[in-house]
Parts: sequence; structure tokens; C-alpha cells
Amino acid sequence: MTEKPKLSMYWASSCGGCEISLVNINEKILSVDASFDFMFCPCLLDTKKKDIEALPDKSIAITLFNGAVRTEENEEMARLLRKKSRLLVAFGSCSSGGCIPGLSNLHAAEDNFKTIYLNNPSIDNPGGVVPQTEVNVKEGSLRIPAFFDKVKTLAQVVPVDYFIPGCPPEPHQIWNVVEAIVQGGPLPPAGSVIGAGMSAVCDECEREKEDKKIKKFYRTYEIVPDAKKCLLEQGLLCMGIATRSGCGGLCPRVNMPCTGCYGPPAGVMDQGAKMVAALGSIVDIGDTKGLSEDEIARRVDKIIDAIPDFAGTFYKYSLSGSILRGRIA
Ligand code: SF4
Ligand code: SF4
Repeated sequence: MTEKPKLSMYWASSCGGCEISLVNINEKILSVDASFDFMFCPCLLDTKKKDIEALPDKSIAITLFNGAVRTEENEEMARLLRKKSRLLVAFGSCSSGGCIPGLSNLHAAEDNFKTIYLNNPSIDNPGGVVPQTEVNVKEGSLRIPAFFDKVKTLAQVVPVDYFIPGCPPEPHQIWNVVEAIVQGGPLPPAGSVIGAGMSAVCDECEREKEDKKIKKFYRTYEIVPDAKKCLLEQGLLCMGIATRSGCGGLCPRVNMPCTGCYGPPAGVMDQGAKMVAALGSIVDIGDTKGLSEDEIARRVDKIIDAIPDFAGTFYKYSLSGSILRGRIA
């Protein structure tokens, strides 16, 4: 019997939703099992790191690497799996753009530790204990992976063959990718985004679109939007303009604004900058004839100030992979 190609999936700094999205392909998981030897997946299988180290280089056909690179362990596994895999895929928003873990790049690692372990109302830590890389216990010295100052995307650490975006990737898109690989057809050039569209979520959103003029932004709990009209035109900050298509416009379909999980559309380097630029052309401050620059700025600020968290809104899924990558100073 010929050996099946090996498939591995690794969980770095992420929530686990990517593993769930793989299981969400439902009965098609049986076809995955028929086509591949699913041999490494820390949350499902007991394969150890030493088993991966023992494999010949490039002997894993595909590794789906989900999660951002936040610790020494994540980086070590990224390098190991790169060496052992013929195709390394950044699977999901965390490995592609940094996603929610990447937002911690707005703060120094030391400040993150203070917030998480010391100055937190739900923490009882009278000894002020924070994680250390080296700890002595009676059995000897324990070493835990160092926590980096900045969260990195997978491609900032090792060369990546393909990117499958989404938080998490949509099951039908995962299946499209698996099917294309199983059928053995020609694959897109290395570095391509696969399992997604080429345009923006707005293009697959079925809501009625008119001229976009926004006089006021609202939070989702403040209004009940018209179920047929574009949410952005109603003042809800929908990131569809600045987000890659592929999910089928899932969130606007259920009356929720797109928050941008498929990352920037093709040809866009920085999702947040794209959204800010788009807003610059649709915020409506009324007739500006005869107004001073200060008055124009005041009117713009009044509208923009209703957006509660600029970085968390515009860069929720992409800060690590953006031009700035995080806080500079
Ligand atoms: S609701 Fe969102 S995704 Fe749909 S057209 Fe408007 S901005 Fe685009
Ligand atoms: S609509 Fe936006 S946030 Fe929702 S699944 Fe699609 S890309 Fe992700």
C-alpha cells in the first residue's frame, strides 16, 4: 500500500478556532483522512516534537500553521515545520496578520504582563508572580519559552507558501483548498492568498448600496439598522470596503458589520490605512464653504471621535502584518 501524504496542523498563539473550522468541514473530514495521513495536531493527536524532528526534511506534504508567533516555542516550531514541510500554509488571521494577539504590539511585553498578572481586578496575586523563563523547583530547573516583545506573523519568521485568511477560515474555503491539492492540479504561485476571493467583501455583500455619506457613526447597540441597506451608509463601521472577499459577506448578511477578518483585499498592503483612506472620502461634514481650517477639523473630529478604538477597529486582524506593525516608541 502506498503511503498517504502527511498533513500536519500546528497551534501557535491563537484561540483554537482554526482547529474548530477544520472540523467544521463536517463529513468531508473523512475525505481529508482518506487522502492524508493526519499525523501532527497538538490538540487532537499525541505526536511529539521529537517525532517531527526525527522525520526527513520535506517529508510532510502540507503544514497548516495557525496562530501568530508570540513565544520562543512558536518560533522554534515555525522553523522546524518549515524545514520538514513541502508546503507551509499560514492558516487563519493570526498567522497571516497577527489578529487579536497582534494587538498587544500596542504595548511593551512588560506592560502586558503587568496588566495580565498584576493590575487586573480578577487576579489574586499577592506575591506579584509573573512568568519567568527559568524557575527552580525542588526537582531541578524548569524552563518555559520566552515571551517576545512583539507578536510576529508567520511570514516574518520563515518563508510561507500560501496564506488562507479568516478568523477562522470559512469551512467551504478550507475544503476548496484541500480539494484543489488532492486533485493535484497546478497550484498558484508561492506567496498567494488561497481559499479567498480577489475583491472586497462589499462586492459579495447583497445589501443595497448608494452614495456613501456618513454624518454620524453608531455602535451596533445604538441603532437597529435597515436590514436591506449598506450598514456603512447607516453609520455602522463596516470594514467590507477594506476586507478581502471569500466569506460570502457572512456578517452583513446577519445585520452585523464586517470587522475585517479576511484581511486586506488583493493589492492592498495595509488594511487599516485603506479603511481610514476610504472614510476620509465618505465622512460628510456638510458645506465647508467659508469655514476655517479649525472649524473643518472640529467637524471631522466630532464624527470620528464616535469611533471608540481606532487601532482595535481598523487593525483588529492585521496589526502585526501592517506597515507600522505596532507601537513604534
Ligand atoms: S454593509 Fe458592509 S460589506 Fe455590505 S456594502 Fe456596506 S460596507 Fe460593504
Ligand atoms: S463579513 Fe468580514 S468579519 Fe465577517 S466573516 Fe466576512 S470577512 Fe470576516
